[in-house]
Amino acid sequence: AKKDGHGSYRFFEAEMDERMQARRHLEIDLRRALALREFVLVYQPQVNLRTNTVTGFEALLRWQCPTRGAVSPLDFIPLAEETGVIIPIGEWVLRTACREAAKWSPAHIVAVNVSAVQFGNPNLVSTIISALAESGLDPRRLELEITESVMLDARGTAHAVLQVLRTMGVRVALDDFGTGYSSLGYLRSFPFDKIKIDQSFVRGTSNDPVGAAIVRAIAELGQSLGMATVAEGVETADQLARVASDGCTEVQGYYFSRPMAPDQIESYLSTRNRT
Ligand code: C2E
Ligand code: CA
Ligand code: CA
Ligand code: CA
Repeated sequence: AKKDGHGSYRFFEAEMDERMQARRHLEIDLRRALALREFVLVYQPQVNLRTNTVTGFEALLRWQCPTRGAVSPLDFIPLAEETGVIIPIGEWVLRTACREAAKWSPAHIVAVNVSAVQFGNPNLVSTIISALAESGLDPRRLELEITESVMLDARGTAHAVLQVLRTMGVRVALDDFGTGYSSLGYLRSFPFDKIKIDQSFVRGTSNDPVGAAIVRAIAELGQSLGMATVAEGVETADQLARVASDGCTEVQGYYFSRPMAPDQIESYLSTRNRT
């Protein structure tokens, strides 16, 4: 038994080693990807349900790796956050999104995902200021999408940073709402412009009365607080009809469009306007 234990311990060590190696490789590849310009942003429209117009686009990161293929952000953002590579990647995302959005009609905002780790970086505000200045984008056309984890810092620095940005006119959306621990408290502590209702509540089938009740409650909350409510992940006409009757003000999802390359935006908008 002793020998077995020893053997499996060694095996465990080797496996750990392998996993650490794989992570180290991924970290190196992420830094290289940034230098080699292998990242791109794709954009997914958000549609106002009352006016049936596109209010803006969420920027979503894509990694076209020559050896790994197309890598999903779900597969590299967590490690990028742990290793801190998210800081330079996030800077690239902010600058690129502002530069690309500055070419759009001023009617459209661009929403950028900002991770909690980025809020720990003292340069975040100056990065945003310079991304706006370089691109000439009106700060009121930039929206930061943050999750509750951003508000979870005890010293409240993220809160202070958000206040500064908001004074500049930058918009703030609370992402993945309903999936965390104490979202309601955060609504009280910060005047978000928008609440994004997590896909898990939206995409339940038609016989998901609990999901529907949650969507309705959040939409009502948004209405009383003067915040827009976006239903995320709407894929079908049926889901669209339900979130509309539940009172959501905006919708984002495959039903309207999958995320698209920046050069597709113009034709997407002109096709929409013609129909
Ligand atoms: P998220 O912020 O919640 O973004 C929404 C995700 O849902 C996107 O996945 C989008 O492509 C997907 N989606 C939109 N509509 C539908 C639909 O109708 N059906 C389904 N099944 N999915 C839909 P994506 O692009 O793979 O991004 C995954 C997550 O990665 C994002 O979740 C966000 O947390 C993170 N992420 C993406 N880009 C960035 C970035 O630039 N910075 C940071 N920090 N995180 C990012
Ligand atoms: Ca988001
Ligand atoms: Ca989300
Ligand atoms: Ca998410």
